[in-house]
Formats: sequence, C-alpha cells, structure tokens
Amino acid sequence: ANRPRPLVAGNWKMNGLTKGVTELDAIATGVAAGEAGAAEVLVCPPFTLVSRFAAQAAGQHIKIGAQDCHAKPSGAHTGDISAEMLKDAGATYVIVGHSERRTDHGETDATVKAKAGAALRAGLVAIVCIGETRAERESGKALDVVGSQLAGSLPAGANAANTVIAYEPVWAIGTGLTPTAADVKQVHDFIRARLVEALGEEGNGVRVLYGGSVKPSNAAELMGVDNVDGALVGGASLKAEDFLGIASAY
Ligand code: PEP
Repeated sequence: ANRPRPLVAGNWKMNGLTKGVTELDAIATGVAAGEAGAAEVLVCPPFTLVSRFAAQAAGQHIKIGAQDCHAKPSGAHTGDISAEMLKDAGATYVIVGHSERRTDHGETDATVKAKAGAALRAGLVAIVCIGETRAERESGKALDVVGSQLAGSLPAGANAANTVIAYEPVWAIGTGLTPTAADVKQVHDFIRARLVEALGEEGNGVRVLYGGSVKPSNAAELMGVDNVDGALVGGASLKAEDFLGIASAY
C-alpha cells in the first residue's frame, strides 16, 4: 500500500528563546541539504516564537506549528491563544492533547477533541496526542486507554490531510525509556485499525507518529515499525544535529 509521507515533528515545550533562531537555521539548512530524506519536518516552538519562526521558515522546506490552542476562535479567555491566531501567525500545525497538557491543565478527551476541531476550523493540521501511563500499561490496559482516548479526541471532519495522531506512552516521555518495537507495532496496528473503522479507507492515510524518548540512536528501529509514519520528538528536537539525526532515519 502507498504510505503517507512521514512527518518528523519537534516539540520544543517551554524551551527556546530568541536565540533558537540559530538552531532553526541549522535545521532548515540540514533539511535543504537532504539530511531529512523523504520526511516532512515540523518545528513547534513556544507561542512567542511562532510568528518569527514562520517568517524565517518561509521558502524553506520546513513547517512551523504550535503546542496548544484554545477551542474558541476569540473572546474573553485571558492568556489563551486561538487556532485562528496561530494560523494568522504563520503556523500550519498545532499539537493538541499532549500528556503534559492533559496532566498540567486537566485536559480531558472532550477538551482535546474541541481543540482539534478548532484547528481544523482554522485550517491547521491537528496533531492529536494519546498514550497510556505506566500503571495502565502494567495492568494490561494500554490498548483500552489508547482506544478510548482516540475515540474521544478525534475531531469531526478528520481526514488524512488535516489530522495526525501521535502515540506517546506517558512513561516514555522525557524518561529515556521506550517500548519495544513489538509493543509499538501492537499499538500502532491497533490505532490504524480504529482509524479505518472510524474513517474508512481514509484512515489508512492518517499519519500515526510515535513519540517518547526518540533519539538518533533508536530512530531507525522505531521508525521502521509498521504503521509508524514519523516521530514526535521532545528533548532531542532542541538540538539541530540530534533532530536531523532522527529525521535522517527516512
Ligand atoms: C514529547 O514531549 O512529545 C516527547 C516525546 O518528549 P521526549 O522526546 O523528550 O521524550
């Protein structure tokens, strides 16, 4: 079957000041030199850098996204940023439902679904994050949790062009721990089957990223697993050399 173009996405989290422009330049230069192979490369800096990065990335083969958005387009929501504002700033993607948002801000599947719907409304691609905790994995509930998060977070109108799923086991994020390739395959095959159930043939084209302690040394193995269509990278996306080392798995 034709597989979608892989996506390698960097989540800078609450890191990166203006000097990050140097790192972004290094990433763009590496991509232009073919270091990312066939992969589409995306950098999601903090809100404050989105418009600057988008301007800097214009004309380069690199995309800029954000890490969260509000569900509403505008209004009395002090401190929040809407999907429309991100679009206006030059973003083309937005991550929603990252486990740190779910934990730090109490985001539920319903919140995440509303935010993903907002992304689609604004013309952004939504990267919807799901994944089980260590306790859930150890009690054999990983697939149940992932299945119910997917069903609860997938926005209406999702298709292969506007929605990406990121499977990020919470216990693998920022810990240096990763599931085995067999465990990744089991979850990604399961997500693929659920996407096809929900969206029909279109579900085969939705990219399903793996995230959680991806680094240059494990990227080839993790990215080689069936139904893994790229990576969502936290820590290792902050250094151009490491991020490009991951993207070069393609
Ligand atoms: C993430 O935050 O999405 C992530 C996968 O982090 P890390 O790569 O640092 O584990």
